[in-house]
Amino acid sequence: MQPHDPVYGSPDEAHRDPLIHQPQDPPIAAEARTAAAIRGGSLPRMPKPNRRRVMVVANQKGGVGKTTTTVNVAAALSMHGLKVLVIDLDPQGNASTALGVPHHAGVSSSYELLVEGTGIKECVQEVEGLPGLLCVPATIDLAGAELELVPMVARESRLHKAIEAYTEDIDYVLIDCPPSLGLLTLNALVASREVLIPIQCEYYALEGLGQLLRNVDLVKAHLNPDLAVSTILLTMYDSRTRLAQQVAEEVRTHFGDTVLKTAVPRSVRISEAPSYGQTVIAYDPGSAGALSYLEAAREIAAAGAA
Ligand code: ADP
Ligand code: MG
Repeated sequence: MQPHDPVYGSPDEAHRDPLIHQPQDPPIAAEARTAAAIRGGSLPRMPKPNRRRVMVVANQKGGVGKTTTTVNVAAALSMHGLKVLVIDLDPQGNASTALGVPHHAGVSSSYELLVEGTGIKECVQEVEGLPGLLCVPATIDLAGAELELVPMVARESRLHKAIEAYTEDIDYVLIDCPPSLGLLTLNALVASREVLIPIQCEYYALEGLGQLLRNVDLVKAHLNPDLAVSTILLTMYDSRTRLAQQVAEEVRTHFGDTVLKTAVPRSVRISEAPSYGQTVIAYDPGSAGALSYLEAAREIAAAGAA
């Protein structure tokens, strides 16, 4: 008999799918407990990593859940007592929107950081309602950075420099990337030790992944020997479809332990949250989507402390 976790419920409640650990449609009791713990700020602490973990959330396909994963994992880690910095590196600024951080023209942002060499301290903003969470937003200016960086000295390691120079007490840096493998993503790969790849459980999910993995290998060989794909998260998993199960199986066979046990279910609540400038954890703490991101963050934190 495994112990009963007052916040997350008993393992039986959360681990119903034998292949995929997916707290979809959780029992009302577990739901209410988690929601109350989140609202009351009484969540247990997650372990601090042995050293600051810098993770790039990358996949050159759009719409696979990079931004959703970045903001929700970041929120979950910060709610459990960890210090987290999100760097929005996508000109669309979706992560900034989802965290409710102002990112209109004129705001100091990841553009100033990359192109003008401004320090993170000058660009960072606090995220309302999440005390341990900071965000460097992205403004539309960043759309030009891809070209402006080309003639610059050490153009691929500017983000790395900025993060190294930022000596504040931060446990996790999560970098949200645009859906391409240009200079912005390259900067993120050079600045990180770990790659977190969200994979959407759809047909074509694995197509294009080879290109990302080859890029990771190239960066590792030439620019950042410490880089590794440490974490894969299955997103938009629909346990009712055979296809989602097949994709999940294939990803697990191929990537083994790198794949988190938790898969994020397809959930309307997750897609609604950004329009309120909120993570799904704040928007609907007891929902299956929120629970799965809390659980994914717990796995990530456990791996970081191991
Ligand atoms: P990316 O950053 O890779 O482009 P997003 O995180 O922005 O992907 O997700 C793409 C769209 O899918 C967004 O509208 C988002 O709200 C929605 N979405 C993401 N994850 C889920 C999910 N698990 N269930 C339902 N909708 C989701
Ligand atoms: Mg995005």
